[in-house]
Amino acid sequence: MSQPLSVAEYKATVAALLPAARTVTLPVEECHGRVLAEDVTAGVSLPPFDNSAMDGYAVWAADVAGASERAPIELPVAADIPAGRTDGPPLEPGTAHRIMTGAPMPDGADTIVKVEDTDGGTERVRLFAAAEVGKSVRRAGEDVAGGAIALRAGTLLGAAQLGLAAATGRDALAVKAGLRVLVLSTGSELVLPPDPLRHGQIYESNAIMLAAAMRALGCEVDVVRSVADDVGTFREILAKHSEHADLIVTSGGVSAGAYEVVKDALTSEGVRFTKVAMQPGGPQGCGTVAGTPIVTLPGNPVSVLVSYEVFLRPALLTALGHAHVDRPVVRAQLLEPLAAPAGKRQFRRGFYTPPVAPGAGSVTGTVGPRGGPGSHLLAAFTQANCLIVIDEDTTEVAEGAEVDVLLLS
Ligand code: AMP
Ligand code: MG
Repeated sequence: MSQPLSVAEYKATVAALLPAARTVTLPVEECHGRVLAEDVTAGVSLPPFDNSAMDGYAVWAADVAGASERAPIELPVAADIPAGRTDGPPLEPGTAHRIMTGAPMPDGADTIVKVEDTDGGTERVRLFAAAEVGKSVRRAGEDVAGGAIALRAGTLLGAAQLGLAAATGRDALAVKAGLRVLVLSTGSELVLPPDPLRHGQIYESNAIMLAAAMRALGCEVDVVRSVADDVGTFREILAKHSEHADLIVTSGGVSAGAYEVVKDALTSEGVRFTKVAMQPGGPQGCGTVAGTPIVTLPGNPVSVLVSYEVFLRPALLTALGHAHVDRPVVRAQLLEPLAAPAGKRQFRRGFYTPPVAPGAGSVTGTVGPRGGPGSHLLAAFTQANCLIVIDEDTTEVAEGAEVDVLLLS
């Protein structure tokens, strides 16, 4: 096998392999977490009309000038305007309209006296405070002008963005579709519940992790959770299930032993199997099979998740149109010494605690490892919220030293 690739080289290789997502139009309520694929032009102004910001009374400012607790001004109440009233009459000088928050300003009225500054009357009202012109009035178009771009293509759609799209009258949006991913777990030892384990067998877990992680990004994931280590069987299942896939992700069968089914089946197809200078997750492979991109991950569950975080997740986010594809990396003080192999970037599972009072005193948080370096230690991963990154040239990190920490949540 040739010289190991660096993490950066392999990351770029995987990113270049994935196809850009298609654009689909989806109901707004299905767009959360997706990337907008069109500019959204506001079909209406926001607010669409001048309206009251308070429950109170719409008046002419000149009519209430000088009103106070001691010298209230009394006006007849000529109309009642709840939110939603579409036929409110104009306001004659010397009168008031009782008005609710969000109700349209009557023609003529130029200010609002809030209900707390009145006696709340319905026939006549005593006003205990003055209000300058425009007080508690929300102007049409103050938030977004009609015809302006409310949301730009490329925007990540969270709750606020979907709310804005809905407020402009949209019920569907063009967004980036998730990739359709086929996940195959290889290994003759893999068993699914409710089957009992016989000695030498284990329950399958990689496909569950990969499917969950990729579905959370909006991908449509098909899963075959147990493919025997038999080249013929593997090829058959791959061909049968990959027809509609934009991407195939396998686990297991790519390292240096015998019975490496993925490697054995796909080397002749032009998939490139390589070593990456990292731990865990050294043995990797990627390429295309019958035109479909394939990423072949190693089998150990921790290797799978680390490989996913380091290579697949950023590549998928790029394919899905995200602007920010990398997890944040922060510096943290190591709580116990760590050893690491020379020539490999190590990703240890850790628990990061942010600085107690950012800006005051310590500026870095702390991080402690969770579990050892073993790539089978999945339980320790469940206790972790970060990966401690130890670079290729470092073999020992002392307690108290600063390390890079890749935050997973
Ligand atoms: P392999 O890369 O196929 O040699 O697998 C490495 C290790 O990961 C072995 O101990 C396998 O039993 C384990 N493994 C492989 N695939 C899975 C899976 N889908 N779920 C859980 N463990 C797995
Ligand atoms: Mg295997």
